[in-house]
Amino acid sequence: MNDLLIKKTTDFFQETFGDAPEKIVLSPGRINIIGEHIDYNDGYVLPAAIDKIICFAFAKSNSKQSKIVAIDLNEEFEVDLTQEIVLSEVVWTNYILGVIKQLQDKGFSFEGFNCVFSSNIPVGSGLSSSAALECGTIFGIKELFGLQIPKVDIALTGQKAEHWVGINCGIMDQFSSVMGLENKVIKIDCKTLEYEYHNADFNDYSLILFDSNVKHSLMTSAYNERRQQCEEGIAIVKSNFPEIKSFRDCTEQTIIDLKDKMSHDVFRRSLFVVKEINRVIQACETLDNGNIELLGQLMFATHEGLSKDYEVSCEELDLLVDLAKAETAVIGSRLMGGGFGGCTINLVKKGQEQQIKDKFSKLYKEAFDIELKIYDVKIGNGTSLYEGAL
Ligand code: ADP
Ligand code: MG
Repeated sequence: MNDLLIKKTTDFFQETFGDAPEKIVLSPGRINIIGEHIDYNDGYVLPAAIDKIICFAFAKSNSKQSKIVAIDLNEEFEVDLTQEIVLSEVVWTNYILGVIKQLQDKGFSFEGFNCVFSSNIPVGSGLSSSAALECGTIFGIKELFGLQIPKVDIALTGQKAEHWVGINCGIMDQFSSVMGLENKVIKIDCKTLEYEYHNADFNDYSLILFDSNVKHSLMTSAYNERRQQCEEGIAIVKSNFPEIKSFRDCTEQTIIDLKDKMSHDVFRRSLFVVKEINRVIQACETLDNGNIELLGQLMFATHEGLSKDYEVSCEELDLLVDLAKAETAVIGSRLMGGGFGGCTINLVKKGQEQQIKDKFSKLYKEAFDIELKIYDVKIGNGTSLYEGAL
């Protein structure tokens, strides 16, 4: 599948600019096995890069002008690197402009370039096509102009670009897009950026994403509200236990002991955060021991918490997880990402994938009159140069 994408992108570059590209960059989307809504709560996350990618073809333009073509949208734009970079009304161009601006602000010097790109990462389904776009663009500019940018700095620069676009994201998406390794998940400490790889061997189970195909508008306001509630929660913890610095230093009992000092919502959000931080630690152990059934149970528990205590689910996602719970062939399922829509991530017994897909599609359509979208995912490498034959 990716070979076709690479060929299409390269051919398009050749037709548009008359020459072959100098660099081909592949930049992946990501999944998160477990560790949801805790990247901004000093927690750990357990993401991995996937085999769905944006493919970029780059060459120097040998002028001040840069021209970038989004093949999938049939749109293009030009930017003069000697002019001040400002936000545009065309959303996708801002991710590229943001990256250029961040690199310039960091003092990197580079000249005009031409770029075309095309993708098979579903957009806006929570697989972080935006991070793939940012990190792939940075990688391409780095390769074209020989800039010295360590991998972690590519992720941090991508994150800053996304902030500039107006989305106050954590570091997980860009970090996993850049640092991903085939068949590994990355445990990232969102507080220190320390990270470690664990084997992503799911034994007899396949990773399947069910895309609810909905996006409820609550998302942004709820996200901001949850952040505030968690800040309030940790502030209450700190004022009662000055030795505690963050949610990761808390036990569940710490939060329970403070129940009377917190509003009902702040209490439930805080308890979820502490439980979820512990689930990520346990999930790494299950992967190391090959206890995939237990990993599945942790995923179900995460969904329960996200739905009942953190309250970021919706009826479509809850149905998909309920359907999963009713099947012995599905040993784990949870909403993935911010919530209020997007995908569930599922561990489905090998050999029974098609039967589960057919059944869920039918039942989902009957319940909501919405088509279920389905993605098989494999864990792949982070942003890199394509050096195969063209
Ligand atoms: P996601 O969960 O996929 O990251 P976002 O809303 O954060 O969703 O980012 C999606 C945005 O990224 C799109 O609206 C678009 O601006 C940009 N983008 C992603 N993929 C492409 C693509 N193939 N072509 C053009 N723009 C893209
Ligand atoms: Mg995004």
